[in-house]
Amino acid sequence: MNSLYKKILKKIKEYDTIVIARHIGPDPDAIASQVALREIIKINFPNKKVYAIGSSVARFKYLGCLDKVPDELDNALLIITDVPQFDRVDGTSKEDYAYTIKIDHHPCEDKVCDLELLDETSSSACQLILEFVFKNHLKLNEEIAKVIYAGIVSDSERFLLSYTSSKTFALVSKLLESYPFAIMDVYKNIYDRPLSERRFEAYIINNIVISENGFGYINITNDIIKEYDVDSSTPSNLVNNLNFIKELKIWAFASFDEKLGLYKINIRSRNIVINDVALRFNGGGHKYASGARLKTMDEVMELFKALDERAKEVQDEQS
Ligand code: AMP
Repeated sequence: MNSLYKKILKKIKEYDTIVIARHIGPDPDAIASQVALREIIKINFPNKKVYAIGSSVARFKYLGCLDKVPDELDNALLIITDVPQFDRVDGTSKEDYAYTIKIDHHPCEDKVCDLELLDETSSSACQLILEFVFKNHLKLNEEIAKVIYAGIVSDSERFLLSYTSSKTFALVSKLLESYPFAIMDVYKNIYDRPLSERRFEAYIINNIVISENGFGYINITNDIIKEYDVDSSTPSNLVNNLNFIKELKIWAFASFDEKLGLYKINIRSRNIVINDVALRFNGGGHKYASGARLKTMDEVMELFKALDERAKEVQDEQS
């Protein structure tokens, strides 16, 4: 693994133009990992042209701005962070680049880039970026440190999820020691929420249907999203909040994405593998946090049935 971090640095040194992309429908870790890597390259190699691309999300603006894909991509390096496959990369395609690198923590069997740093046991893509910095003794500053911290904190759910490890704490400890910043500034950006969102969360808790197997599901219509005056991305931001409800082993939200004309499904579980089920429905993700996009409500119900069956299998094994 050590040599991989060195190899990535060697490739970064070789190219003058570097584009950094991440997955569609980004979360804070996706944006933070690409923005932090851009800034790290800029401060360590000021002569390079570095771009972090993909559509921007207003509520994650505090992590930094994004760039347009440059017109001139002759002999450019592409680095994709927090995304396992090219069909989920936002804003560019592999063919335009001389060399490609992946830095990711999603499970993935296919090799899609020339060089891949893949660590499924990492809490976040930002944790991998931080390791890359420390292993190569690169410069950082407090602003970038904050962005990396925000990515780690949000993808690990404040160090709560299972891939939080002694390594995560050691890296974060070294980060805070080397680049002290006020952690409350970061939390304010991530966790301050309007009351309408809390009321919407209460709606979900009051209306989620829970099967006898411990599978909870809810179809969140656009009328409800309008009624509660929240953003269409809010269900995705709330799905983790249903963790630690005793009766829920697996839970899923369905909401309709008007732009794509598809149902967006967020799936979470408590220590029950679900990504293989999501994969069967053209989705994917992590073992305990997955997603899918489906065309019809019938497909959504089929996926929900399969998730209920998974919850039942586990319940039967345990009884
Ligand atoms: P979300 O519920 O959108 O936060 O997604 C949870 C995880 O599943 C993330 O790691 C996503 O990258 C992944 N994921 C979401 N939707 C899909 C999809 N349609 N195909 C593959 N992976 C997905």
